[in-house]
Amino acid sequence: MDYSVPRLTDYSAAALERAAGESIAACQSELAAVRSDGDLKAFRDRWMARKNGILTQINELWLKDAPREAKREAGIRVNDLKARITELVEAAHVSESRADALAPETVDITLPGVRRPIGAEHPVVRTTNEIVSVFQKLGYSVAEGPVVETDYYNFEALNFPPNHPARDTQDTLFIAGQQSRPQRERLLLRTHTSPVQIRTMEKMRPPVRIVIPGTVHRNDPPDASHSPMFHQIEGLAVDTNITFGDLKGTLDHAMKALFGSSVKTHFRPSFFPFTEPSAELYVTCFICGGSGKRGADPCRPCKQTGWIEVLGCGMVDPNVFGFVKDNGYDPKKVAGFAFGMGVDRLALLKYGVDDLQYFFQGDVRFLQQFR
Ligand SMILES: [Zn+2]
Repeated sequence: MDYSVPRLTDYSAAALERAAGESIAACQSELAAVRSDGDLKAFRDRWMARKNGILTQINELWLKDAPREAKREAGIRVNDLKARITELVEAAHVSESRADALAPETVDITLPGVRRPIGAEHPVVRTTNEIVSVFQKLGYSVAEGPVVETDYYNFEALNFPPNHPARDTQDTLFIAGQQSRPQRERLLLRTHTSPVQIRTMEKMRPPVRIVIPGTVHRNDPPDASHSPMFHQIEGLAVDTNITFGDLKGTLDHAMKALFGSSVKTHFRPSFFPFTEPSAELYVTCFICGGSGKRGADPCRPCKQTGWIEVLGCGMVDPNVFGFVKDNGYDPKKVAGFAFGMGVDRLALLKYGVDDLQYFFQGDVRFLQQFR
């Protein structure tokens, strides 16, 4: 740090040029020696301080003292020099990282460690895991399949023939540019997890007991109870002697395991293309205990009926077995039941959340509640 601003006697262009060059070189070499925040502050003050900083001295000594005829030339050069030095000193912000680079050499091992925030299981994942584990304890295994499906697996092999009106009840999102393919090969986003039933039966001979968790898509605009992407869990049991009694017993047990041993179950006739007969399963409202009231107020989740619909189910339609007949699923010899439920809706009810969109917005303030 031995640079000091020289007093000029020669104001020629060449002399000004040389003096400016020396000044910049000095600034650069001092900058290179900066090692810490303290060095940096001293460096900045030395060059930039309004009172007696080097730039101020240059202004005084080179400009104010210049003879009148040299003032204009000196002014241009001093301004240029000031701009270049200011740029160098301001860029010295970056060289603060030198301190970071040296930081590992000065680790204080007595300081406490970095505390990483612990995440939480997403309520939909947690609900999925709970449902899956109830069935795993009954001997079911988990099967999964692709989200982008063919028309064949999503519809045809599940007894939705082409042009069948039941296809319209599932607002399907189709993959573009498939028109040149035969209909059964056209790709779409699966509208339910049921295609995995067929895929599993193609690979495994009976008996089969599986649960199928996964995401599905439908063309539903997002609102408090709809989302274009949502989650289902599907179940399938196939064996030689399965009856509707097995379906009822299995699901009654599962609902008690999920919602508490005091819930009652209730089956109402329904329709699905891939099961016959089909039913909707209701459980007594686990929010109001089946009374339809919460204190003096009506219970909204069950619409005051005391019952909540939780899933659709039924005996596998023999036509569905027809598509996998060659792998041991002769509809005359085997029977089975299937069921499917919307996980997101159950999670909404279970955690008392009033808007489905909260689940998918990824807002950590919402998710932190579920730690
Ligand atoms: Zn209720």
